[in-house]
Amino acid sequence: MTVPPEYGGAGRSHVERFVVAEELLAAGAPVLAHWAAERQVAPMLLRIGTEEQRRRLLPGIVRGELAFAIGLSEPDAGSDLASVRTRAIRVDGGWEITGQKVWTSAGDRADHMFVLCRTGESADRHHGLSQLMVSTSAEGFRARPIVTMSGEAEFAEVFLDGVFVPDADVIGEIGRGWQQATQELGWERSGPDRYLSTFVLLAHFLALDDPAYDADRGRLAARLSALRELSWQVAEKGQAGLDFGADAALAKDAGTTFEQESVEIVRRALGSDVRRRPELRRLLRAAQFAAPTFTLRGGTNEILRTITARQLVAS
Ligand SMILES: Cc1cc2nc3c(=O)[nH]c(=O)nc-3n(C[C@H](O)[C@H](O)[C@H](O)COP(=O)(O)OP(=O)(O)OC[C@H]3O[C@@H](n4cnc5c(N)ncnc54)[C@H](O)[C@@H]3O)c2cc1C
Repeated sequence: MTVPPEYGGAGRSHVERFVVAEELLAAGAPVLAHWAAERQVAPMLLRIGTEEQRRRLLPGIVRGELAFAIGLSEPDAGSDLASVRTRAIRVDGGWEITGQKVWTSAGDRADHMFVLCRTGESADRHHGLSQLMVSTSAEGFRARPIVTMSGEAEFAEVFLDGVFVPDADVIGEIGRGWQQATQELGWERSGPDRYLSTFVLLAHFLALDDPAYDADRGRLAARLSALRELSWQVAEKGQAGLDFGADAALAKDAGTTFEQESVEIVRRALGSDVRRRPELRRLLRAAQFAAPTFTLRGGTNEILRTITARQLVAS
C-alpha cells in the first residue's frame, strides 16, 4: 500500500496501511506469504535500495508475486545477533556467502532472502556486517523446513554454501548491516500483527452471549484499545519519517504479552464450557500452540525491554 505509484504501488500512507492490515488480521486472513516483503522489505528498498533494485523488485512485491525471507538468526546468534558467523567474501563481480541461518520464516518458500552476514573484521562486533539479498534458487542455497508442535512448518533452517551474490544485490551499504537490520526490525515489531494474532479467538469470546464473561471481556477490550493506540502512534511516527525503534520495541513487548495472556484468560474463563463450543475450542487450541512464539519472533521481550530502557536512559 505504501509503495509509490511509479513502482506500481498505491502510494498510500503508513496509517492507511495500518487500517487495512488491521482488517486483514481481524478477519484471520492468510497473510504470512507476503508479509515480510510488504511490511519491511519494501520500506527498506524505498529507503536504502538502489533505483535499479526498486524498479526490479517493488512491482513484483506489490503484485504479490515476490516473497521474501529475513535471515538474521543463526544457531549461535539469536538475541545476541551481532555474533552472526555467516560470512561473505569478495569475489569477482560480487560476494560469495557461506553459513547457516535458522528459524527463517518462509525460508523454504520465499523467492529471495535478506541475509545479515559478516563482510569485514572489527573489534566492535556491530561493525563489519552487511545485508545481501540471496536468491533462493541460487546454486548452494538449501532450506529445510522445521516442523513445530502444531505440525506446521512456518520456518526453516537455511544452509548457504558458497552462494554467489552479485554486486547489484547488495542491500544498502557494505559495513552498515547492523544499522540497516535493526531499522528493518522496527517495521517488523510495531504493526497491528503484534497484538492481533489471536483476534479471531478474542472476537468469538467477546461475542458470547453470557454475562458470566463480562469482567474478563471488559478487561481484554480495554487493553486491546490501549495497544491499538500505542501501535497507531508508531505508524504515525513512521509516516512522519521519525525514528521509532524504541517505540516499536515497547509496542511489541506490550502487544505480544497481551496476546499470550489473552489466550490464557479465555482458556480459564471458558473452563470445561469450551467443550460445548467446537469453533471456540478449535481456535483456542490453535492459539495455544502459537502463543509461545509471540514473544520470541522479532526479538524476545527481554531484549525489547533492554532497547526501551536504553532509550529512556538516553532521553
Ligand atoms: C515463529 C518465529 C518466527 C521467526 N522468524 C524468524 C525469521 O524470519 N528470521 C530470523 O532471522 N529469525 C526468526 N526467528 C528467530 C527469533 O528472532 C529468535 O528466536 C529470537 O531472536 C531469540 O533468539 P534465540 O531463539 O536464539 O534465543 P536466545 O537468544 O538463546 O534466548 C533464549 C532466552 O534467553 C533470553 N536472553 C538472551 N539474551 C538475553 C539478555 N542479554 N538479557 C536478558 N535475557 C536474554 C531471551 O530473552 C530468551 O528468553 C523466529 C522465531 C519464531 C519463534
